[in-house]
Amino acid sequence: GAPKSQDIWQDLDRRHHLHPFTDTKALNAKGARIITRGEGCHIVDAEGKKLLDGMAGLWCVNLGYNRKELVEAAANQLSTLPYYNNFFSTANTPSVELAARLATVTPEGLDHIFFANSGSEAIDTAMRMARFFWQAAGKPEKTWLIARDNSYHGSTIAATSLGGQKEMRKQGGPLLGDIAHVAQPYHYGEGDGMSEDEFGLFRARLIEEKILELGPERVAAVFGEPIQGAGGVIVPPKTYWPEVERICRKYDVLLVADEVICGFGRTGSWFGCQTFGFTPDLMTMAKGMSSGYLPISGVAVGRRVADMLIENGGEFYHGFTYSGHPASAAVALATLDILQDEKIIERVRDDIGPYFQKGLRTLLDHPLVGHIDGVGLIAGIALVKSKTPKTFFETADKAGVRVRDHSISNGLMMRAVGDRMALSPPLVISHEEVDDLVRIVRRALDLTLAEIGAA
Ligand code: PMP
Repeated sequence: GAPKSQDIWQDLDRRHHLHPFTDTKALNAKGARIITRGEGCHIVDAEGKKLLDGMAGLWCVNLGYNRKELVEAAANQLSTLPYYNNFFSTANTPSVELAARLATVTPEGLDHIFFANSGSEAIDTAMRMARFFWQAAGKPEKTWLIARDNSYHGSTIAATSLGGQKEMRKQGGPLLGDIAHVAQPYHYGEGDGMSEDEFGLFRARLIEEKILELGPERVAAVFGEPIQGAGGVIVPPKTYWPEVERICRKYDVLLVADEVICGFGRTGSWFGCQTFGFTPDLMTMAKGMSSGYLPISGVAVGRRVADMLIENGGEFYHGFTYSGHPASAAVALATLDILQDEKIIERVRDDIGPYFQKGLRTLLDHPLVGHIDGVGLIAGIALVKSKTPKTFFETADKAGVRVRDHSISNGLMMRAVGDRMALSPPLVISHEEVDDLVRIVRRALDLTLAEIGAA
């Protein structure tokens, strides 16, 4: 049960729990910061320290903490029907209702939903579905999947194989075959000498080159996040996605948008693909779908693939015990209600998103801030050793980790991806909280500058 007093944490040996994506030696020495409560856009740790959650948990608690409607939705559903499966032509009420509701907000045509429990499972599902589509279409040699360098699509062996994070890919292989990677459209870091628009087209055409190198008759699908999130919040030039879509159509390759981070309002549209002007064949979603309150994910399936599954595919041997879990689906429905009733996505697009982006850009005068990427309530800050000439820090400087740690000490949870600082606060963040966030980031930058200096 819940600890009766905060003191219990003092006596616990915190070292038994193995944490993903953590330096296990450092963790073993220090123990983890235990988060015990949430309040609005803040979290509170076992020592009673309150932090503004600049990451919405792990890019997911979009509606903030203690939303009673979400808790009640889960409780009511658990007391009515805690579980029934969606296999063998049975289904539970909330999952059927959720699929229908999602179909009203997904882009035109993506109106069938396959449920899973995590982003990784949704990705795994989309990978199988894309390859199965071509098998059923009589082109079983179309097996290759193309993704981008540095991308994160999850941690199952399939999602790890799809992802482009080099260190991660070295661990636990052999990985799945028939997967290729191309460079992401990181204009500030890699686009020197080209305009953003030119660079967007240039990087999109790397996908075309890869398709031609492999042979279009062997390529099943291209996968990408509208904005690469865990890869460092890389916002593509606006020419990028429409060109990628054109290329996929030209060579008859499926396009899969990984909307696990961008979906449900983060970029000021329901889905990131709408912000960037393209329509995928498949779309993965998770995180913000239930505002992180219970695990649920899904794949929105466009008509072409849905028709195949329904008409030609026969039985699709795929699914998870908890696909469309009633309590998770009920929370997701309540999340959709809040997003719509409170016009939260419109607020991200027209008010708080622009306010957040403008606030962050006041940091551009700071010697350590080279560039700020972002749209809606997601942003990446590129740290530099010097602006002109543009010089990035050495890994050993640990600039990103320093800024992150100073930020956390000063009351803001934020994330470092190398020397790119990632921010993704709850969509319900207030103007005052945005001001606090920007102030704490500046303080963290000042403290870091005092420690390591600039060039
Ligand atoms: N895709 C993207 C874009 C993600 O950011 C993540 C998680 N950070 C995943 C997939 C995997 O989701 P999960 O952790 O729920 O498996």
